[in-house]
Amino acid sequence: IRRPAANSILAPDFKFEDMGIGGLDTEFAAIFRKAFASRLFPAGLIEQMGIQHVKGMLLYGPPGTGKTLIARQIGKMLKAREPKVINGPEVLNKFVGQSEENIRKLFADAEKEYKERGDESELHIIIFDELDAVCKQRGSTSGGTGVGDSVVNQLLSKLDGVDQLNNILLIGMTNRKDMIDEALLRAGRLEVHLEIGLPDEHGRGQILTIHTQQMRSNGFLDQDVDLAELAHMTKNYSGAEISGLVRAASSFAFSRHIKVGTVAGIADDVVDIKVKRQDFLVALE
Ligand code: ATP
Repeated sequence: IRRPAANSILAPDFKFEDMGIGGLDTEFAAIFRKAFASRLFPAGLIEQMGIQHVKGMLLYGPPGTGKTLIARQIGKMLKAREPKVINGPEVLNKFVGQSEENIRKLFADAEKEYKERGDESELHIIIFDELDAVCKQRGSTSGGTGVGDSVVNQLLSKLDGVDQLNNILLIGMTNRKDMIDEALLRAGRLEVHLEIGLPDEHGRGQILTIHTQQMRSNGFLDQDVDLAELAHMTKNYSGAEISGLVRAASSFAFSRHIKVGTVAGIADDVVDIKVKRQDFLVALE
């Protein structure tokens, strides 16, 4: 058995700290261990062991917690092609037959490349956002167009058909894991399931740091802003809500510099603009 070669799938100089994701270190490590570890070894070794790479995973949890962010960053980390994104509700709105065709196409590129380049082929990541939307209708007799059914069936047959391909990773995302068809979650399909929950205080601190980083380094964040205090005050906030909070606080800072009555509407001292603790407190309220 050959020793694992230096891996070529990881992007060089890739650092988790540069990903702009806060508070998900543990989750990311778990994704890595459960879904990608095998991809770091040469294909020959994996073959000799008689195993296959994980080809699908499900990220689930409340809205705005960074699921999309993580899925996209996985693509960057693994030197994959730009992920293809498909959205559940959008799929359902397509004409009958077109959705299945679109899904077939998503896999077709990866299949073609794998046939041509084998294990040299790049990883193709397909992100399926709001996956629950297509599962809702499967097997339901109450109205519905049946599009959901055939989309899920198409996905299943594609996933089962890629047994021989090593270059596909399907990342399904949902706020409602309970709605996802069991058949999709079985081994060999979306088999790695990972909950991306609301951040704890430490995670909120990291997310606040990420979203204020640029204003801090450019001198727009007042010294009186204490991110640890804000992390403490934002219990139950999602990452998206924290980013909204920073935006709201900046609007209050902007509004201090608007002069009523002038034509241009803004004062001359905009370069002195500072987002202050008080702006965050008002925004929180
Ligand atoms: P949904 O389930 O509603 O699709 P999601 O979990 O996919 O939500 P994202 O779309 O990844 O959430 O997050 C929305 C935005 O919120 C991100 O673009 C980012 O600006 C911010 N955000 C969310 N979570 C984090 C995080 N952990 N670290 C940094 N920013 C975050």
